[in-house]
Formats: sequence, C-alpha cells, structure tokens
Amino acid sequence: MIENIEELKSLLSSPQNITIIAHRNPDGDALGSALGLSAYLKQQGHLLKVVMPSEHPKVFDYLVGIDDMIIFDLKHNEAREAFRKASLIFCLDFNGLDRIDKLGPVIAECEAKKVLIDHHLDPEPFADFVLSDTSASSTAELVYEFIDSLGGAQDINIPIGEALFTGLITDTGSFKYNTRSQTYRVAAALKDRGVDDYYLSDKIFNSMKEKHLRILGHCLANRMKIIPEYGAAYIYLNRKDYIDFDIQRGDTEGIVNYMLKMDNVVMAGLISEQPTIVKLSLRSKGDISVQEICRQHFNGGGHKNASGGGVYKPLSYVLRKLEEVIPQHLTKIEILS
Ligand code: 5GP
Ligand code: MN
Repeated sequence: MIENIEELKSLLSSPQNITIIAHRNPDGDALGSALGLSAYLKQQGHLLKVVMPSEHPKVFDYLVGIDDMIIFDLKHNEAREAFRKASLIFCLDFNGLDRIDKLGPVIAECEAKKVLIDHHLDPEPFADFVLSDTSASSTAELVYEFIDSLGGAQDINIPIGEALFTGLITDTGSFKYNTRSQTYRVAAALKDRGVDDYYLSDKIFNSMKEKHLRILGHCLANRMKIIPEYGAAYIYLNRKDYIDFDIQRGDTEGIVNYMLKMDNVVMAGLISEQPTIVKLSLRSKGDISVQEICRQHFNGGGHKNASGGGVYKPLSYVLRKLEEVIPQHLTKIEILS
C-alpha cells in the first residue's frame, strides 16, 4: 500500500497530465500494467501519455492503446515533451532510473510528482509515492491493487482487464511461478469483469511463426552448453545467428526457460550478442539468486529467480565470465537434486 495515498488521491481528484513509463525492452507486464493503468486513468478524466524507451514485441499488438504509445528510440523529442508537460509521472515495472536509459536523467529533473509501482528487488528512492512489493507476481497485480485502493475495481472494463491479465500471465509463466494467493484473487476479479483468459493465452503463446521454432531448434541443438557439475546451462547467440535467422527484438523470448525443464538444471542463461551490447537473461530455481549474479557481475538485476543484465564487452568475454562466476554462486548454495 502507498504510505501517503491520501495525498495522491487528492492530486488525482482533479484532471492531471499523466505520463506513464515502463522499462526498456518492455515485456507483457511492462506493457500490460502501463496500458491498463493508462486506460483506467483516462476513463477517470485525466490526460494520458504512455512512453516506452524501446519498441515492444509484436505478440502484444492485441493490447488496446499499444499503437498510441510514444517510443523514445523512434521519437526522442515527443517522449521528452511528454515528461516536460506532465504533472504526474507513473514509473511501472522498474525501480532504477538506469532501466529507462536516457530518459532516466530526463525524469530525475522533472518537477512532476512521481509514482513508482513495481515488484523488483532493491528499489532506488526517486519517487514521491511508492508501491513496491517484491512478493507480488507482477506489476499488473499491483496496478490492480492500486486501482482498487482508489475505489475503481468496478470501473475496470475489458481492455483494462485484458491489459492487467496479460501482465499476470506473462510474469507468472501462466501461473506456474511467482504466484501468491492474491495473484489468483486478482485473476478471479479480472475474470469476473469479463476478461477472456483463454483468448489472451492463445494470443500470447500460440502466435509463433516458423522462424521462431527454427530459432528455438537452433538454440537447443547447436548453442546450448550444459555444466552438469553445477546444474547450470546456457545458450548463446552470436551476431551471425542474428543475421542467419533474422532474429528481431522479442524473437528469443521464453527460450531461456526451456533449459529449466531438465531435471538437474537449476540455473539457465541466454546470452545474446546484440549490436552494441551483450545481453544476459538468467533464470533459476529455488534458493539460487540470479539477481545477485546479475547485479554483481553483469550491471543488471531483477528478481531472485529471473534477472537480466548487459555488458559492453565481446561475447567470448561474457561467456568466460559467466563460466567463472557460476562456481562462485552455485557452490554457495546447495544444488537441488
Ligand atoms: P529478461 O531476462 O526477461 O530480460 O528479464 C528478467 C527480469 O530481469 C525482468 O524483471 C527485467 O526487468 C529484469 N532485467 C532484465 N534486464 C535487466 C537489466 O539490464 N538491469 C536490471 N536491473 N534488470 C533487468
Ligand atoms: Mn514485471
């Protein structure tokens, strides 16, 4: 719950110029929580703009309002303008200004009051109103809680509900992890508002193109390395793979999770050599904190069992570094059998 909620409620009692932003490379939760909150606040009479630092995966094109978002990478000035004009800024699904690249300093300088709604570890203190709960499945779950605390649960219509439910589905891997009882309560409430969860799952999970299955096949057959003594596995993709398989943003989504399907693998990584940066996506089971690994070694962070980072070094360096740090982190804790 937001500590000074009454002050925020009083701000929201008159029409505001609100700009909402979520993290770079937005996923289903970043997009769903931002578009759900935007649609709700618009319905309440506010003027809304949604800004994303970079483009979104096409799979989420069904979300209402997604085409009206301002993408900073494509429209620098328009995005900056949206913050300059804002009287209130909502920061969703990230908790450190480095997660929104060049927009970080822009927001830090804004006079507007800032509201943070997020579920990642170690929040930075840059917001005036904070709803940060690492036990929540998703930011979308917290946005529901926020709307409910404003007395708006009954105003949730199907587009708002679909956007929030998208965040729930994607950040819990279809309710397989990160859930708590409240997650199911929110899911039930959204379903009661008319959300068709089967339609959403079909849109999200059955929208692969031939290309995606071929990329997955290539990763599993040719690019997967297993380190059995530590229960670790990783897949790497080099620049040539990106060209040969025409890999675009979002095309490798979910691949990292396949390695955790092996019964003796407790930590998995996807390392991709992008034009200027090598990106890491790490996942783990149980007590192993990939958040620590990303924070300590790869300029990143996230959640205990799902984190990411990025390094401006050659791919070979990053792979060597990963192999080096795996024994340090996995020997610290007991490997599940
Ligand atoms: P993914 O591996 O799917 O990109 O991200 C997994 C989780 O880690 C997400 O919650 C995401 O927000 C977070 N994450 C991904 N990349 C970074 C990064 O570079 N820095 C930080 N702090 N978090 C990241
Ligand atoms: Mn999230």
